[in-house]
Amino acid sequence: MEKIIKKIIMKKPIVEMQGDEMTRILWDWIKELLIEPYVTLKVAFFDLGLAEREKTDDKVTHEAAAAIKKHRVGVKCATITPNAQRMEEYKLSKMWLSPNGTIRAALDGTVFRTPVVSKNLKSFVPGWVSPITVARHAYGDLYRNQEFLVEGAGAVGELVLKYADGNERRRQIAAFDGGGVLQGIHNTDKSIASFARASFTYALSVKQDLWFGTKDTISKTYDHRFKDIFGEIFESEFADKFKEAGINYDYTLIDDSVARVMRSSGGFVWALKNYDGDVMSDMVASAFGSLAMMTSVLVSPDGCFEYEAAHGTVTRHYYKYQNGEKTSTNPVATIFAWSGALRKRGELDGSKRLVKFATKLETATLKTIERGTITGDLASLYKGRKKPRVAETREFLEEIQKILK
Ligand code: NAP
Ligand code: MG
Repeated sequence: MEKIIKKIIMKKPIVEMQGDEMTRILWDWIKELLIEPYVTLKVAFFDLGLAEREKTDDKVTHEAAAAIKKHRVGVKCATITPNAQRMEEYKLSKMWLSPNGTIRAALDGTVFRTPVVSKNLKSFVPGWVSPITVARHAYGDLYRNQEFLVEGAGAVGELVLKYADGNERRRQIAAFDGGGVLQGIHNTDKSIASFARASFTYALSVKQDLWFGTKDTISKTYDHRFKDIFGEIFESEFADKFKEAGINYDYTLIDDSVARVMRSSGGFVWALKNYDGDVMSDMVASAFGSLAMMTSVLVSPDGCFEYEAAHGTVTRHYYKYQNGEKTSTNPVATIFAWSGALRKRGELDGSKRLVKFATKLETATLKTIERGTITGDLASLYKGRKKPRVAETREFLEEIQKILK
C-alpha cells in the first residue's frame, strides 16, 4: 500500500536558478523524483539558461542576484559561460559574462567548496575522513596585477603611492643590472573585511573551526593586513558566537597551516588568500576524488547563501543525451546544492521538518552509494566489498528515491 506523504510546506521562498545542458536535465529529474514528492516548493524562479540570458540581455541574471539578496537563500544549476564557440552555437548577440561572476560581484560574496565524502569512495589522502571546505578570497593580489618585463640593464623599478592631497610615497623595488620582471599587486580593506565576515559567517553556519594562514612574517605589511583585519573582525563581531557554538578561529603562518591540514582528519573550513585558494582548492578537490562530488556555496558578508554544484554543465554527456543515448551523469553535487538550500531555509525560518528532510535526502544519497549503486565517474574510486552497479542517471535517482521512501 502506498504511504500517504504529508508534504512539507515552506514558509518562505528560495531563489531557484535553472541552468544549461546536462545539468538542466538533471535539475528537473531531481525535483521530480527527490524533492517535489515531499516538499511543496515555494520558489522565486529564474531561468539562467543561455537562451533566456540572450533574450533578456542578461537582465535575468541581475534579477536573480537581487532576489538572492532579498530572500537570502538560493540554489543554482550550472550554466554555460559563453566563449567564441558558444557565440556560434547559441547565435549570441554578445559574449555574456559568467553568471557566477555577476552574482558573486552583486553579493560581494566568497565561494566555499566542500566535497561530499563517502566511506565507500577512496580519498587520496587516507587521513582525510571528513570534508575540508576551502574558501578562496576572490579579489585582487596576483589576479589584478600589473607587471613589466624588464628588457636590459640599467632599469629601476619603483613603487609609487599618490594620495589625493598630493602626498606621495615612493620606494625602490629593484635596480636591474640585466633583464628581469617586475610586478605590482594590491588589495582593499573592504574586500578583505568582506572575505573575513563571509568566512566567519560560513564557519558558524556549519559549526566548524575556521583556519586562516598568510605569509605575514615575510610580508609584514601586505599579508599582515589580512591577519589584522581577520583578527579585529573576529574579536569584535564573532568571538562570542564562536564560543557559544563551541568552535575556534585558528590563525597560523600559511606553511604551518598546510602542514597541519595534511596531518588533519578534515572537518574544518580553510580560508585562503586568492592565489593560495586557487592552488589549494584544486589539491583538496582532487584528493577527495570526483569533481561531481564537490558542492559549492557563495556566502555574502551579510549572510546570504547561494548553493550549487562546483562542476559545469557536463557538455559531453549532454551531446550524448541529445543523440538519444543514456548517460551516467553524477547528480550528487546538484542534490547537495538543493539539500543545502532547503536546510538553510529551514534553519532561517525555524522549520525543523525542512531541516530534517534535507538531512534525509543527503543520507539517502550516500546510502545509495554505500549499497553499491553508483555513477560511472565513481567506478574507479569505489572501495566497497562487492562490485558496484554503474547506473544511468535516472536509475541512480530512482534508487535514492527508494531509500528516501
Ligand atoms: P564540466 O561540465 O565540469 O565537465 C568536465 C568533465 O568532467 C565532463 O566531461 C565529465 O567527464 C566530468 N564531469 C563533470 N561533472 C560531472 C558529473 N556531474 N558527472 C559525471 N562526470 C562529470 O566542465 P567543462 O566541460 O569544462 O564545461 C562545460 C560548461 O560548463 C562550459 O560551458 C562552462 O562554461 C560551464 N561551467 C559552468 C560552471 C558553473 O556554472 N558553476 C562551472 C564550470 C564550468 P567525462 O566527459 O570524462 O565523463
Ligand atoms: Mg585553480
